[in-house]
Parts: sequence; structure tokens; C-alpha cells
Amino acid sequence: MYRIGLGSDIHRLVSGRPLIIGGVRIASELGAEGHSDADVLFHAVTDAILGALALGDIGAHFPNTDPQWQDAPSSMFLEHTVRFMNERGYAIENLDATIHLERPKLRDHIESMRENLSGIMFADLGSISIKAKTGEGLDAVGRLEAIRASAIVLLRLVAG
Ligand code: MG
Repeated sequence: MYRIGLGSDIHRLVSGRPLIIGGVRIASELGAEGHSDADVLFHAVTDAILGALALGDIGAHFPNTDPQWQDAPSSMFLEHTVRFMNERGYAIENLDATIHLERPKLRDHIESMRENLSGIMFADLGSISIKAKTGEGLDAVGRLEAIRASAIVLLRLVAG
């Protein structure tokens, strides 16, 4: 049995905040604003897994009004969610994600992001796809106002 899930996220880009994507800190004049560390990729992947399991969304599980999650590393949200998934007998079949950011270019960081996701999700590197696109100067991404990510996951029932 398989279940599919879709996740997306957006964060405002501001000065004076770190830019952390997929658990990788990236040198940038602008960082992502948010209650946690604002890791847009981890948030989108977390929502995709929750969606596949029909367990609601990241905001319901990890409310941004809860001081517990203030500046929390978003790997915690993903680790919790992977635990929900494992408890229900599912494992990651594959993940495909896209990050939308005008600059800097993310090419040199993609492998580190894949390794981070592979480790947290207990999935082979070959099952983890991450792509990066610019906004071509258009929309909030193109105007350097936002970073966006989308993710789709397929879960496989392995037990229970
Ligand atoms: Mg978010």
C-alpha cells in the first residue's frame, strides 16, 4: 500500500536572519523570517508527510504560538513527523522537492540537503530529489521578497 502527500511553504526574506534550507546554512544577505529557524524545505517536506498520512498540517502539530518552537531547528518537526510515519508502519519510497529562490544559487548545497533529508527520513540518497529554481525576476521570489518550496512524497507500508 502506498500513500502520496504534497507540501508547500513560503517565508519572507529579510536582512538580519540566517538562511537555512534543508538544514544547510547558506551565506546570504537575506534570510528567512519565521518563528522557528524558518527552513522552508523541511517545512514543505514535513507537510507532505503529514498530508500523506492525513494527519493535518505543520501548524496544527507545531504551532508558532508555542514558545517550545521559538527558533527551533526545523529538523525537529521533520524528526517528529517521521516518527508518526514509522509508528503507522510507513517508510519513504521517494521524495521530490523544488526550492524557489532568486539568489544565491543553491547548486553547491543540494547534495548536503539531500544527505540531511536522507538521514532524517531513513531513506536512500537515491530516493531523495531536490531541485532549485530562480523566480526569473517575477513574483515575490523574483523580487527577493520570498523563498518558497514544494515537496511531494510517496510512502510505502512496510509493517502493520
Ligand atoms: Mg514555514
